Amino acid sequence: MSKIIKCGKLFCAIDESVQENAVIIIEDNKITEVRSAEGFLANAGDEVIDLSDKFVLPGLIDTHVHLGFGGKTSLIEVSEPPEMVVIKGVKNAQLDLLAGFTSVRDEGYPTITGCSILRDAINAGIFPGPRIFTSGMYITQTGGHLDFRYPGETLGYNTFKSGNIANGPEEVRAAARLMLKYGADQIKVVVTGGVLSPGNEPGEQNMSVEEIKAAVDVAQMHGKITSAHAHGTAGIKAAAIAGVSVIEHCTLVDEETIQIMVEKGISIAPTFIVLKIISEKGAAAGIPDFAIRKATALVGSHLSNIKKAYDAGIRIVFGTDCGTPLTPHGTQSGEFELMVQAGISPTDTLLSATRYAAELLHWNDKVGTIAPRKFADIIAVDKNPLEEISILNSVAFIMKDGKVYKS
Ligand SMILES: [Zn+2]
Repeated sequence: MSKIIKCGKLFCAIDESVQENAVIIIEDNKITEVRSAEGFLANAGDEVIDLSDKFVLPGLIDTHVHLGFGGKTSLIEVSEPPEMVVIKGVKNAQLDLLAGFTSVRDEGYPTITGCSILRDAINAGIFPGPRIFTSGMYITQTGGHLDFRYPGETLGYNTFKSGNIANGPEEVRAAARLMLKYGADQIKVVVTGGVLSPGNEPGEQNMSVEEIKAAVDVAQMHGKITSAHAHGTAGIKAAAIAGVSVIEHCTLVDEETIQIMVEKGISIAPTFIVLKIISEKGAAAGIPDFAIRKATALVGSHLSNIKKAYDAGIRIVFGTDCGTPLTPHGTQSGEFELMVQAGISPTDTLLSATRYAAELLHWNDKVGTIAPRKFADIIAVDKNPLEEISILNSVAFIMKDGKVYKS
């Protein structure tokens, strides 16, 4: 018995085209054929899913989430046992799935093994959730972004407050190897200061080219990618020179670094939504003043800087930073509107959350397009998102791995 999806409009994400009246044929959890509905007859016993009044596209991929956080304002007060973080992560993962995100990349989890356990449990069918691509913990440095330790503090189980701290290339290499040993799919390095931790500024470079390069080398030896958190101009440039695969935020990128990134094929995951929300709603929600000040200083030029990078040919991948304060899981789709507002074409915006994201993760043989042999990760919306991108805030139909989660 096959599952047959009748599509009113279909965007496969293989190219820019939109097909009318197509049919997707699914056997078990995989797509076997995409064809015109003309002359097609389902076999007796086939399950026909009628989406002939909908716009159908591949399941969405958010390449920057934090499953260990739920969008609470008190992120920096995290002090829960790792078991509780994992249980809440189950819920966070499900909220992402029910917003249409059939795959997510976790960009830093509070414990070393928690996120790979979540990933493996979902893959084993123990509970539903998106496909997870995990960093394990991010690698940061003493006093860098996400080093929340008080002087002399003993951390116990609360590893989140220290991150995976490494100083100098040798320690970075060891930290990267530790993450891979415990199941990370990529290496995440924190190259500049950030918004949410006190005591450092987003413009500051915190990791040297040599340190970043050590992480890139280890990742490459294992066939993995490297992701760099970077807001400030100098840190973005260092990450680009070191040859990371993708730069997160990339807020204050300049023309010189844009050229390096073009040459090396480095992508950007902008995460517009979190900086904007913290800047606009942080005060009323009780976010610390220092974080609001830093976010507000960054939002001004974020959209226009990313537009310059996009115009120069840098690939933008969809990433939101959801799970950080005021952007709980399942609410991150406002990022699509901000991307279009920044000047990224609606087609590239859809591709950023489908094929481009899959290619970044080296998952393009599995997900990101609607094509034979791909997993049946398929969503549908009531209107054409190329004309009205905000429709992605309310996904009407969700299938992951051939199973329907919303219809
Ligand atoms: Zn993040």
